[in-house]
Amino acid sequence: MTNPLPSKTTTETVISIHHWTDKLLSFRCTRPAAYQFAPGQFARLGLTNADGTVISRAYSVTSAVEEDALEFFLVIVPGGEFSDLLVNLKPGDPILLERFSYGFMTADRFVDGEDLWMLATGTGLGPFISILQDPSVWKKFRNLVLVHCVRNTEELAYQELLNDLPKQAALTAGGAKLIRIPISTRDTQNIDPNHLHGRITTLLSNGELERAAGLDISVEKSRLMMCGNPEMITATRELLHERGLRPCRRAVPGQFVTEDYW
Ligand SMILES: Cc1cc2nc3c(=O)[nH]c(=O)nc-3n(C[C@H](O)[C@H](O)[C@H](O)COP(=O)(O)OP(=O)(O)OC[C@H]3O[C@@H](n4cnc5c(N)ncnc54)[C@H](O)[C@@H]3O)c2cc1C
Repeated sequence: MTNPLPSKTTTETVISIHHWTDKLLSFRCTRPAAYQFAPGQFARLGLTNADGTVISRAYSVTSAVEEDALEFFLVIVPGGEFSDLLVNLKPGDPILLERFSYGFMTADRFVDGEDLWMLATGTGLGPFISILQDPSVWKKFRNLVLVHCVRNTEELAYQELLNDLPKQAALTAGGAKLIRIPISTRDTQNIDPNHLHGRITTLLSNGELERAAGLDISVEKSRLMMCGNPEMITATRELLHERGLRPCRRAVPGQFVTEDYW
């Protein structure tokens, strides 16, 4: 991985860290006044290792656009170069931030559609946390369907924030309804009447996902964002193709956009 040039980055400070599990954490850091992003985009962050080399990786922004700080939701991958530095991160530590944000998984890619489906595995939830705090998304769509698939229920992060969203008048004034479908693949716990078990692709194939949402996925009404595990994205993309849905291309409006995390 190439090091970011010093001129491309600013040095920010870690403000706080929240550990969801031993492998999942969120942290907040200072945000330069000039830093801009659209909900759904990602930043490039850099940490310096013991020999002075900067290790940089992409991380989706989870905070709302108007916040003074930036927040990220991260996994610690055993043996991963960035992860090895992340385990020791603490408030007050410096972190490098590239000056520009990146990515095309944003709601403005869709020119029409009634229902926005957000399909996430693991930390792929992050960009949807930012998108769901954007009032314009609540205005643009009739239904916002958040599907979050994890191995174990304890990995279903951001429940408090998600519970709070429908209580925010600035969001609900837009008129959309938030439908949450938590999914765990390895346990049988239920934290919600909509809690499903199994892989996203299985639940899409057997109709359980649409039954839980009370909505059909169709070319006319559905727009989808998929984020996280590339295997889930590839397999879901094929299922959507079979139903006639197509990816958004630069000049051609489509029905889905994706962000592979590796
Ligand atoms: C556009 C983009 C946005 C991203 N946003 C996020 C984010 O918001 N949060 C986040 O945690 N990661 C995100 N990632 C992944 C992130 O950039 C790192 O790859 C990851 O944090 C691991 O870094 P590492 O150096 O420790 O290991 P790496 O050497 O980068 O990865 C080692 C292996 O870990 C696995 N892996 C990588 N990322 C993940 C993940 N997120 N969940 C499960 N397994 C993974 C893969 O098998 C990969 O081959 C994003 C990646 C891309 C391309």
